[in-house]
Amino acid sequence: MKYIFITGGVVSSLGKGLTSGSLGALLECRGLRVCMQKFDPYLNIDPGTMNPSQHGEVYVLSDGSETDLDLGHYERFTSSELSKRNTLTSGQIYASVLQKERNGDYLGKTVQVIPHVTNEIKERIYGSGEDADVVITEIGGTTGDIEGLPFLEALRQLALELGHENALFIHVTLIPFLRAAGELKTKPTQQSVAKLREIGIQPDIIVCRTEIPISDDMRQKISLFCNVPVTSVIEELDLKVSIYELPYLLHSEKLDEIVCQKLQLPLHESNIAPWETIVEKIKFPKKTCTIGLIAKYLDVKDAYKSVYEAIAHSGIQNDCKVIVEVIDAEELELADDLGEFFEGISGILLPGGFGIRGVEGKIRAAQFAREHHIPYFGICLGMQIAAIEFARNVLGYTDANSTEMVPETTYPVIRMMFDQRHVTQKGGTMRLGSYPCKLIENTKAIAAYQANYVNERHRHRYEFNNDYRDEFESHGVVFSGINPEHNLVEILELRDHPWFVGVQFHPEFQSKPRRAHPLFADFIAHVLEYQSSRA
Ligand code: GLN
Repeated sequence: MKYIFITGGVVSSLGKGLTSGSLGALLECRGLRVCMQKFDPYLNIDPGTMNPSQHGEVYVLSDGSETDLDLGHYERFTSSELSKRNTLTSGQIYASVLQKERNGDYLGKTVQVIPHVTNEIKERIYGSGEDADVVITEIGGTTGDIEGLPFLEALRQLALELGHENALFIHVTLIPFLRAAGELKTKPTQQSVAKLREIGIQPDIIVCRTEIPISDDMRQKISLFCNVPVTSVIEELDLKVSIYELPYLLHSEKLDEIVCQKLQLPLHESNIAPWETIVEKIKFPKKTCTIGLIAKYLDVKDAYKSVYEAIAHSGIQNDCKVIVEVIDAEELELADDLGEFFEGISGILLPGGFGIRGVEGKIRAAQFAREHHIPYFGICLGMQIAAIEFARNVLGYTDANSTEMVPETTYPVIRMMFDQRHVTQKGGTMRLGSYPCKLIENTKAIAAYQANYVNERHRHRYEFNNDYRDEFESHGVVFSGINPEHNLVEILELRDHPWFVGVQFHPEFQSKPRRAHPLFADFIAHVLEYQSSRA
């Protein structure tokens, strides 16, 4: 087994996750099996309780783990199915060490960061990727952070134990361009590599994020100061069109070749063609359409990361560039004329969410889509909103709501799930992960999926209240996806509407650039139809 450790220097948000995922993709293109892992140095057990405006979306794995959004990149770029073993935080490490201490596992000893915490980290790396040729471990945060030190120390020890041909360090760093001086600067990179060396880690490869190409002289300088061969200085230019350009870009810098050589891995020929096709399709779309994303987090694209990616994948599949216009849910609450907001928009997407802020605006958006026959795709909260809107404006239950928003509502068309009612702890207690869904014949859902059963990932506490099912059905709602075990509504759609679909799960987590999620792909196909019917 070979191990690759990826660290980051100078600043955060360098795209280490994308770099790691792209390297995974490149190694798979060379016929190798990869296992991807992310270690985050913060003390939360997982990001499930963090605000998306700080941390971005919470990415849910099929086993129900709530994880960092980088795991989403790993699943989109590689074919590895991830589980809780592929994600680790300092919080989990300390929780485990402290539990062992209470159990008496260290009886008589003083429990310390070295070796107890570092051993725990090492065990997690050794214990992963049985079926893989290469384990790629990305360390969150930036070199120099105090909280990241135990992880780096563990990696240093591991590399010593594994031997040089089995462990490789890649440092992703920033080469800033100083506009006033008109030049790129290598000093921050030199200093962050010096920080790594202080701990005893000498990176093998330096990946340089830069907004303009790095000259040969600059590469020589980085090579000299960072103590790596000049061929191991990899340029990672800012991407112009799409993140899916990255595998090809790094391949042309020979990153995969150098990694294989250094780790003495067989250098099979690379089959990078699928990635080239994706980029071609993104660069030269045949059509364009615009959809509205009804959002609560306006400036943080990362809060809806996987939704954006799934939309991009559907664009690839439909040969179409999808422009996403973000519409502030709260502004919709106050507006007199909703038409202004939806001018030029051929589809409305309502993503998941929690809490009451913006909910009334979201309900108005769903109503607009229903009444104007605009394709509507509601995800999780977006499905619940569709149900509330229907109850209010079609069934006439004017104060229908979810008990999440108004616990005492007269018409609780969305209510807390039974097994959630006694839950008091917040972390990891929702209905999480993959559950089966049976699709009903002659529905939009089955037409999109072309399957009778599907498995989709969940993250919610509330559900459609089955007491209202008959009434909804007799007024034109079709419940097209049902969880067979608990008879729970997973998908609802409108019979007399070109495409109005709400799903209780999160399809965005299973969409890939080479295989857009069927519902997303079908939504965009109907957006295009709607657009041409209007033209
Ligand atoms: N807040 C809703 C629930 O908990 C929807 C959750 C979501 O959209 N992920 O059921």
